[in-house]
Amino acid sequence: MQTCLWQFMAYLQVPLQHSNILWLFHRQMVQQHFNVPVIVDNDANAAALAEHYLGVARHAQDFVYVYAGFGIGGGLFLKGELYRGTHGYAGEIGHTIYQSELFGKPCQCGHRGCWETLANQSAILARVRARLEVGRSSVIPTLMTQQDAPLSLAIVVQAAEQEDAEAIEVLEETGSALGFGIANLISIFDPEMVVVGGPLVSAGKFLLPTIERKVAENATPTIPESAPIRLSAFGADASVIGATALVMDAILLNPTRVEGWSGNRSKELRR
Ligand SMILES: [Zn+2]
Repeated sequence: MQTCLWQFMAYLQVPLQHSNILWLFHRQMVQQHFNVPVIVDNDANAAALAEHYLGVARHAQDFVYVYAGFGIGGGLFLKGELYRGTHGYAGEIGHTIYQSELFGKPCQCGHRGCWETLANQSAILARVRARLEVGRSSVIPTLMTQQDAPLSLAIVVQAAEQEDAEAIEVLEETGSALGFGIANLISIFDPEMVVVGGPLVSAGKFLLPTIERKVAENATPTIPESAPIRLSAFGADASVIGATALVMDAILLNPTRVEGWSGNRSKELRR
């Protein structure tokens, strides 16, 4: 349904930055159909709340959630609640610029050189393809043939599990790119912890050592103790579990007034 709505908005030539209109439209449709309160928020915010209520950040009041999958999203949980920014779009950490427009890869947001172009699932697969195209020896083509499956993150992780040097190096390169960005987040927010969730957690044991090393090397030295990096236990299900956490959050914030709202209206809800 969401894809159809995006296409409809594109047909109407509604700018993507006005996607809160889509949220409100989407929420209203579901609310009218089922006649129940409906809450709409973005996946990374939902996943961050899931970590706060049910996951590895249960006792943290200040943490940054990094959702790493086909893109990179962020949930900023600061002073005990989600921080949404002036217009409700805080946490778009994947679109912070890491390379100049001359050298950076194009990003889905229309810019070049965004962090997520270096450290997302597509970047992993592109690195693998580049290595295979120049004839590097790897078990990955054999796994693809055996499973009659296209190249995927799951196959890269299987290859790494079999100590395939190319797969391990690609995941280390990606861990390095993730680590640079997370070091920046720690320098900006000085959080209690950083939680990494999303599909890339399936490669967590190969990514995490490099992430931690890059954070130790690059986070500002004035912070006396760097925030620990924790992998989410929810993996790719984080946003779905987060949907439950959104309801819990709405009830706990205002038990007497749970009504349909979008993330952009959270301030109104909390009055
Ligand atoms: Zn971008």
